Amino acid sequence: EKSQDTADKEPDTLQLDDWFHASARPEVSTSTDWSAPIVWDGTFKRSVLEDYYSKRKVTVGLTVFAIGKYLSKYLKTFLMSADNFFMVGHKVIFYIMVDDLSKIPLIELGRLRTFKVFQVNKESRWQDISMMRMKIIGDLIESHIKYEVDFIFCMDVDQVFQSDYGLETLDESVAQLQAWFYKEDKEKFTYERRPESTAYIPLMQGDYYYHAAVFGGTPLRVLNLTRECYEGIIKDKERNTEAKWHDESHLNKYYLTNKPTKLLSPEYCWDYKIGKNSDIKNVKLSWMPKEYDEVRNN
Ligand code: UDP
Ligand code: MN
Repeated sequence: EKSQDTADKEPDTLQLDDWFHASARPEVSTSTDWSAPIVWDGTFKRSVLEDYYSKRKVTVGLTVFAIGKYLSKYLKTFLMSADNFFMVGHKVIFYIMVDDLSKIPLIELGRLRTFKVFQVNKESRWQDISMMRMKIIGDLIESHIKYEVDFIFCMDVDQVFQSDYGLETLDESVAQLQAWFYKEDKEKFTYERRPESTAYIPLMQGDYYYHAAVFGGTPLRVLNLTRECYEGIIKDKERNTEAKWHDESHLNKYYLTNKPTKLLSPEYCWDYKIGKNSDIKNVKLSWMPKEYDEVRNN
């Protein structure tokens, strides 16, 4: 008797070859040496992805923190642009963490979009606000997120979506290439270089310099990431040390041993201050200008 599987049914998993064109951008690197795709504009077939996920009704979560001055300065722009460009046509749940519920901007989200607001304590140092996100995201994944979404992204609030940020970014474990470092030699990466920190990466080690402003994946993979990063942060505090770039240093250490399954090109988190760059065909998300004196003077 013939197996039903031989019929021309939909394949259960999406194969890389089905949606990804590694050679569509010959001037840039589109694959890691562990064969993870590096997604650049032009390398993916949107229609294949839309077709695959439309049959599976995917829900994507997006966590964002807006504490202290960041709340009135950045949250509205971030959410309005995400409403327009993040996972258009798919269910999205925004998880918004603030320290002051009375300052939440009033915005109307499109259909298929909902949000949940959580009040969190404001740490007094900006470094701790940034690092504590690892603890809070982990707790939230365990209590809510893992029951509610198929994929979760965690992003900085000081950014704005510029064009479609879609299904091509979804995977088990997704990391963002830091715009200023994507062409740099690895000895120039600003990893933590002091052995006393748990985030230590020896010179000449490492693959890429990843940006902590964007990471994502399945809830369980992101839970593991946040737990490990937070453990490193706590161990450092016990040793009276702090990694050079805080949670970002721990994230880079984590990805060194837990290789991401997909990388996003700098088009997915671009800094216009870098200036003209022919590699950047289509910016999907960009950094907001930051007045450091203003926002970090709590
Ligand atoms: N953050 C915040 N309030 C603060 C400091 C940080 O809400 O006072 C959050 C916010 O989401 C911000 C993220 O933590 O985008 C990381 O901090 P920041 O963007 O200042 O770090 P940078 O991108 O400059 O490394
Ligand atoms: Mn930021």
